[in-house]
Amino acid sequence: MANPTKEEKRNNVIRVLNQARAMELQAISQYMNQHYNLDDMDFGELAGKVKLIAIDEMRHAEMFAERIKELGGEPTSDLADSVTKGQNVNSIFPFDSDLEDDTIEAYNGFLEVCRQNGDSITVKIFETIIDEEQIHLNYFDNIAGHIENLGDAYLARIAGTPSATGLGTNGFAVSGEQA
Ligand code: FE
Ligand code: FE
Repeated sequence: MANPTKEEKRNNVIRVLNQARAMELQAISQYMNQHYNLDDMDFGELAGKVKLIAIDEMRHAEMFAERIKELGGEPTSDLADSVTKGQNVNSIFPFDSDLEDDTIEAYNGFLEVCRQNGDSITVKIFETIIDEEQIHLNYFDNIAGHIENLGDAYLARIAGTPSATGLGTNGFAVSGEQA
């Protein structure tokens, strides 16, 4: 097989960047749907954190788009999958933990594609974003554990807490919101 041309290599990187961007766009819509639900159920603190994580995913979607444009590609506006609606508070956090876990696995594969196609800049972008997905995974896992172990006692403590995140937020992973 002939060595791939520069253009073929660039297209291979653009393809995985767009797959990743579609996953971010899905995560944004999924987490927005959940934070409205959590707010309606009056679990304000959880709603606020999920909103900040959705903002992180927006930042990721933009980082991928910027790189796609630098490479001469067209950033997708498609979602990787449909959004699951009407989840209750018990199912949201294990679901999100799995979503982040699948994302990390996929991005590690995409990073490898970038490495094989000689694009170290995009490798670094994936490395940065994978670190943030791990922070999301840890948070979702932590809350899923609290709900599983403490149940109503934990949820009663959250009920009625404020969901406000303030203006001009940097999201979750880079603003020390994990505490
Ligand atoms: Fe993300
Ligand atoms: Fe994430």
